[in-house]
Amino acid sequence: MMLEDYSFLVWYLGRIRELKKSSSQGRLEKHLEWIISKGETRTAVVSCRFCQERPIEYFSIRYSYASDFSVSMHYTACKDCKHNLRENNTIILPLKFSSLKNLKREKKEVVSLFKEAFGLKGLRKEGLFRFFKS
Ligand SMILES: [Zn+2]
Repeated sequence: MMLEDYSFLVWYLGRIRELKKSSSQGRLEKHLEWIISKGETRTAVVSCRFCQERPIEYFSIRYSYASDFSVSMHYTACKDCKHNLRENNTIILPLKFSSLKNLKREKKEVVSLFKEAFGLKGLRKEGLFRFFKS
């Protein structure tokens, strides 16, 4: 699925750029940039639970002492309410595809949260294509 492949796409785009430094941009590179930029500007379909007005724009990952962590829709907020997410051993990240880049073991849970946040749960390839096209 496309979201799981996101960090691969970013890596691949970097590789293409390296290889083609002096030449003009290829079609594949343009296409990848387009996919990635779409993932940066999408609005979530889930409302912030604090103000119940604006769509969520931030999510947090809460780490426990047993080096465990939790990611949940409960720990999301819009930009005006994100201070509510602040707590010890917690990182707050923008709800953007680029946030996936620096995650490793947390990625699976975060991707699942993103799917829910952007209304992508259960979508097949065609649905995902429309998501990126609109
Ligand atoms: Zn809010």
